[in-house]
Amino acid sequence: MAGRFFQSSSPSTMIVTNTPAADLALTNLAYCCPSDLRNFSVPGTKLALASVGDCFVLSLSPHESIRPGHIALNAIQRRHARVSTGDSISVGRFVPPDDFDLALLTLELEFVKKGTKSEQIDAVLLANQLRKKFINQVMTVGQRVSFEYHGNNYIFTVNQAAVEGQERSNAPERGMISDDTYIVFEASNASGIKVVNQREAASSNIFRQKEFNLESLGIGGLSAEFADIFRRAFASRVFPSHVTSKLGIKHVKGMLLYGPPGTGKTLIARQIGKMLNGKDPKIVNGPEVLSKFVGETEKNVRDLFADAEQDQRTRGDESDLHVIIFDEIDAICKARGSTRDGTGVHDSIVNQLLTKIDGVESLNNVLLIGMTNRKDLLDEALLRPGRLEVQVEISLPDEIGRLQIFQIHTNKMKENSFLAPDVNLPELAARSKNYSGAEIEGVVKSAVSYALNRQLSLDDLTKPVDEESIKVTMDDFLNALQE
Ligand code: ADP
Repeated sequence: MAGRFFQSSSPSTMIVTNTPAADLALTNLAYCCPSDLRNFSVPGTKLALASVGDCFVLSLSPHESIRPGHIALNAIQRRHARVSTGDSISVGRFVPPDDFDLALLTLELEFVKKGTKSEQIDAVLLANQLRKKFINQVMTVGQRVSFEYHGNNYIFTVNQAAVEGQERSNAPERGMISDDTYIVFEASNASGIKVVNQREAASSNIFRQKEFNLESLGIGGLSAEFADIFRRAFASRVFPSHVTSKLGIKHVKGMLLYGPPGTGKTLIARQIGKMLNGKDPKIVNGPEVLSKFVGETEKNVRDLFADAEQDQRTRGDESDLHVIIFDEIDAICKARGSTRDGTGVHDSIVNQLLTKIDGVESLNNVLLIGMTNRKDLLDEALLRPGRLEVQVEISLPDEIGRLQIFQIHTNKMKENSFLAPDVNLPELAARSKNYSGAEIEGVVKSAVSYALNRQLSLDDLTKPVDEESIKVTMDDFLNALQE
């Protein structure tokens, strides 16, 4: 556990004493003698971290009243570390690994002590205060933290910690709070507290994470496009609605991603959807929505917005954002009058779609992301301000982008030692000019098929394959590129 991050080869032994300060209710800050502090502080940072037992990480602060060789833990800390006052414990410096900053921290609100019991907490305000108070402090899952806010003393349990770029499924045990940590509050039933504003906290978090590491999300070479989308489509969602209404601006409700096929439009749109409301967005496909039955296409379009409509009707301003991704939108939104079917079906579908995002009946809780390989075919009316107004071109990747995409798609085989040492990804990136992301993925798949094929014995296909000897080589990639 924490032990693997130790850097000091010989942890010191210290004697546990009680906290000197009555106000020290914090569960992740301990005190030690100022002269001992330098043994534990991390050079180049303001941090002083100590590990007690095998799994407890604390920030250390100097205190005049503590004698050398002593560490002051409060009752909660002692219970966590399963030690008592007078015990000798081994304490070592904890060096935070790279990317230790918490991207997400889920706190369960247990109860409120002292003061008047507040029934409602504002997630945005409370998260801001918590970040300020606990900046650069380590939080460990299961840890209990008490925190005074507006005269009330809240107790939280850390339920989940996620470090940026890591899968939530193998979330780490701990991380360090930074300016960008997004905090989610879950009120326990017994607390009787209602959390409001969680959603706005989510969108402000998105803004802070502008520098999102797209590669860790499996998207290569598109960070400039992503930054552009952020600025143009999300800035208005960052601020609470009372601020945007004072500024007199409306949220962007529609966006168009256009460019050649296989360049990552769907990847990006999905990611946007996930970031905006934490869920997998709804994806529909233009040709699928088009129905050969009269009137059915209109119904399909209506159905698409039904959830958002229902939500807005029942919950008003509180309703969640519904992200709808419309792939091959050109199939149903061709320029009006351009289709020769003579039925006028296309015209009425375009009209119908427009009324949902821009019209008297328009919905405030939708973001429609249209995607197309043929922007030129689209009805001009769809692209006006207030409609699919943010248009971002997703073009073929340049050499750096191609390298990133090669890295993303070979990452797993590299981790599992299936990639031969002679594979030169920068050279492959240089040789794959005009390849799309999807085509690069195809090259990797094909290279793997060459490598697997080598292992198969044609005489006996049932013979077990020697996993260890599978290696995808540079030649496999070069053959794949020639296909
Ligand atoms: P589009 O929507 O532009 O037609 P997709 O996003 O559906 O393209 O891409 C298809 C597949 O190709 C993706 O699932 C992914 O595996 C790969 N791919 C495409 N672009 C990229 C990229 N920029 N980075 C990593 N993989 C990519």
